[in-house]
Amino acid sequence: MSTQEREEKNFIEQIIDKDIAEGKCKKVITRFPPEPNGYLHIGHAKSILLNYGLAKKYGGQFNMRFDDTNPTKEKIEFVENIAKDVKWVGGDFGDRIFYASNYFDQMYEAAVKLIKKGLAYVDELTADQIREYRGTLTEPGKESPFRNRSVEENMELFERMKNGEFPDGSLVLRAKIDMASPNMNMRDPVIYRVAHISHHNTGDKWCIYPMYDFAHPIEDAIEGVTHSICTLEFEDHRPLYDWVVRELEYENPPKQIEFAKLYVTNVITGKRYIKKLVEDGVVDGWDDPRLVSIAALRRRGYTPESLQMFMELVGVSKAQSSVDYAMLEYCIREDLKLKKPRMMAVLDPVKLVIDNYPEGVTEMVKVPNNQENPEMGEREVPFSREIYIERDDFMIDPPKKYFRLFPGNEVRLMSAYFVKCVSYETDENGNVTVVHCTYDPETKSGTGFEGRKVKGTIHWVNADTALHVTARLYENLTDEEKGVYNEETGEMNINPNSLTICDKAVVEPSLKDAKAYDSFQFLRNGFFTVDCKDSKPDALVFNRICSLKSSYKPN
Ligand code: ATP
Ligand code: MG
Repeated sequence: MSTQEREEKNFIEQIIDKDIAEGKCKKVITRFPPEPNGYLHIGHAKSILLNYGLAKKYGGQFNMRFDDTNPTKEKIEFVENIAKDVKWVGGDFGDRIFYASNYFDQMYEAAVKLIKKGLAYVDELTADQIREYRGTLTEPGKESPFRNRSVEENMELFERMKNGEFPDGSLVLRAKIDMASPNMNMRDPVIYRVAHISHHNTGDKWCIYPMYDFAHPIEDAIEGVTHSICTLEFEDHRPLYDWVVRELEYENPPKQIEFAKLYVTNVITGKRYIKKLVEDGVVDGWDDPRLVSIAALRRRGYTPESLQMFMELVGVSKAQSSVDYAMLEYCIREDLKLKKPRMMAVLDPVKLVIDNYPEGVTEMVKVPNNQENPEMGEREVPFSREIYIERDDFMIDPPKKYFRLFPGNEVRLMSAYFVKCVSYETDENGNVTVVHCTYDPETKSGTGFEGRKVKGTIHWVNADTALHVTARLYENLTDEEKGVYNEETGEMNINPNSLTICDKAVVEPSLKDAKAYDSFQFLRNGFFTVDCKDSKPDALVFNRICSLKSSYKPN
């Protein structure tokens, strides 16, 4: 392999290459193993695409597996949404959807095997005592008085635990490893506990449940996973992972590899915090477009392609860092800019009357669907004497370098005529209610008019054919200046302007059949998508995905 090739491969690919070269791995099998205790977020998308991407690259297999071994926090609602989100992001698991809870029998057998090998024992210490006996980072732990029970006694007690003879928290099964190990995870970790709780998949069959560190390697081994990819916080657990697969004598033991979690600036990913935002009514559910759960990103108008591009740009590493949210916006812009039609929409309208345009006449003007992609063709948009323009495209008393409309100034109405402002009307508060202009019929776009130039071009929507819609503009939920969390109180610093509702917005009539998740560029205003929950055919609601300007430049 040349140096350059090595540089292009990430550290996980280098490990896989080596395993293949040494004959340790024939077919790469990876998995995405969420616990069904919440919705997936952008960090999970990284894990999904990483695992899926590796399987694909090496012609291997990618599995979806629910790590549903802890019935206290898990719900079937999450199971269904997670599977949908994984597929949507691009983690194609085919029909390979597995449940750790289907392996409870094998896990039980595995525990029995450890007992028989003298490598596990039933402990009667209380949870507090276990903690106390565990020692600290600087002091070794102390052995439990129950550590040296006979195999027979352990077998009997474990069976009785399974049969429901003991209350929750009374007995545990522990791996017998090393109470003096410098790695706390190796100091006889608990591998089974008693919990009389119904499980959403296995019902009341079990009243003992395996602990994560014991269950996870077994799940991987059963499925033949070759590379078990997880995040850095599990690095210290790897010796235990290796111990479990070794002592259980799996023929082709899986290998755990850790990478750094994805963090994005100014967004909230912690389940606990999102739950609080939902409960406090700050957001309207787990899929509020201001969140970065996968459901929220989809509702906001992000596409799987944009998330895939984002993960490619971010890469994989072992070093913890935060990625700028602007990079995510860059990716969706790149994905949509040549694909989506550019429409006329006015978010904060003020009426413009063309005094010298004939009354009762509507003409059709030709508008390119996408100036940067001529293949998308053009459409016709109605134009007449009364139109709407953006309120901030007119100023009574403009500053220097303001090239849009003001009394006496001439601008181009996009794809139509030059108009010159002749007067305006205001209400009793001084707010502009109507802008009056005259137009020059010679200046129609597309006629090759070259008589004179104007500096400003503004967009517009014909008044009597306009669709009245709602547009929602978003900012980050948290206050960028102050940071996501208040360092002293731990509370979130909420941005009071995270949502702006433009309920007087107007759009051109070609948008009348827009359906949920359809996306468009609204000229000069950004990319928008039709909201999947609140939009109705006669009352469309658009979410702004992002503005057109970027603060991020790829290198
Ligand atoms: P959270 O702490 O955000 O709730 P989690 O780690 O508890 O996430 P799991 O359901 O256990 O959620 O995660 C499933 C997989 O997704 C795991 O392999 C986990 O390492 C990975 N994962 C979770 N968060 C991130 C992240 N921010 N970046 C990359 N991978 C992640
Ligand atoms: Mg977790």
